[in-house]
Amino acid sequence: MFVNEHIAGMPAGYLFSEIAQRVKAFSASHPGEKVIRMGIGDVTRPLSPFVSEAFARAAREMATDKGFHGYGPEGGYPFLIDAIIREEYAPRGISLSREEVFVSDGAKTDTAAIQELFSPDAAIAVTDPVYPVYVDANAMAGRLGRYLNGRWERLVTLPCTHENGFMPELPRERVDVLYLCYPNNPTGAVISHDKLRSIVDWAAERGTLIIYDAAYRAFISDSSLPHSIYEVPGAGDVAVECCSFSKTAGFTGVRCAWMVVPKGVKGRLPSGGQVSLNALWRRRLASKSNGVSYPVQKAAEAACLPQGQKEIAANIAAYRQNAAILLEALRGLGLPVQGGTHAPYLWLKAPGNMTGWALFDFLLDSARVVGTPGEGFGPSGAGCFRLTAFGSREDTILGAERIREALLAL
Ligand code: PLP
Repeated sequence: MFVNEHIAGMPAGYLFSEIAQRVKAFSASHPGEKVIRMGIGDVTRPLSPFVSEAFARAAREMATDKGFHGYGPEGGYPFLIDAIIREEYAPRGISLSREEVFVSDGAKTDTAAIQELFSPDAAIAVTDPVYPVYVDANAMAGRLGRYLNGRWERLVTLPCTHENGFMPELPRERVDVLYLCYPNNPTGAVISHDKLRSIVDWAAERGTLIIYDAAYRAFISDSSLPHSIYEVPGAGDVAVECCSFSKTAGFTGVRCAWMVVPKGVKGRLPSGGQVSLNALWRRRLASKSNGVSYPVQKAAEAACLPQGQKEIAANIAAYRQNAAILLEALRGLGLPVQGGTHAPYLWLKAPGNMTGWALFDFLLDSARVVGTPGEGFGPSGAGCFRLTAFGSREDTILGAERIREALLAL
């Protein structure tokens, strides 16, 4: 049989596999040395007691005749969808119907799968650097052409750098889909209402679909910044939004997320007619998913409820303090640094002409700290480096000190 040549032609190695290999090799040659991991964006704090109790209660229910649940609705149980609408959107003046919210096992799943709704020749734009999943999913579907000299032939990239204040300049060429992520992974940048409004207006004028990834919105500490793209008038006609319980409620191992596909968002058919994206997504889901488990959805519901929110807020505050510790240590070095205020990520410019990979190797070797080289997030990530604030307080303080000492001695 013939294979999918687009997958076969992908650049080798998923970024984090390459990092894991280098760290493994380092640890093997330096036994007993403590390595502080600030690379992958995984949380470390345990589930809130209220959430874990709801999770356990639902599992126990499943062991009873009355409480057993088989296949659930593929788009999520109404109890969770209602909780999401009531707790996450209504307080911000956003009104959504039950049919517009779809529960899934992760925003990675959703942001990778949504491209199945686009035509094979749709023109895709991403901010650069970018969460690699958006690009890889489109590349595997054959939409991006060949990967030559570190770039995809048909991908439109919008540089977001220290120099341009991390605000993308909108493309002049035709773009069918634009992926945005705020607060941003990897840069930690946020977007203002005015800028987001200008992008929504631009998308509406041109018939461009926005995929808005708000996986980190719980980290926004300024209430004047948009938490959802639907705070912008007109966004309900041009944008799909992906959110996740992963970084908010510590669900990276539990797995639950949701996607909003408003009924107002339409796509074009080659024949000239219009079709509802909501209907297409529902149709796709019916064929490809059997939903998320009942206990996981009960745990997610608990995470939306006031007691769950209160307990989760304590975890997020702890990560925010970690970010503040890192930010202070890095600022003192005089290197350009972005993020760390409304996001669990800090985006650092490597000193001198160092590449991100050179800084990675240097910090692993001399500080025993693992970060992520910016090159892994796209061409504009070259010479940059990402640190995450998801570690323990102890590790964060130690890591910040070690990074500082190593860079001062450079
Ligand atoms: N979106 C962004 C921007 C992310 O950084 C991540 C995880 O790191 C995800 C989505 C994945 O979220 P989930 O764990 O819900 O799949």
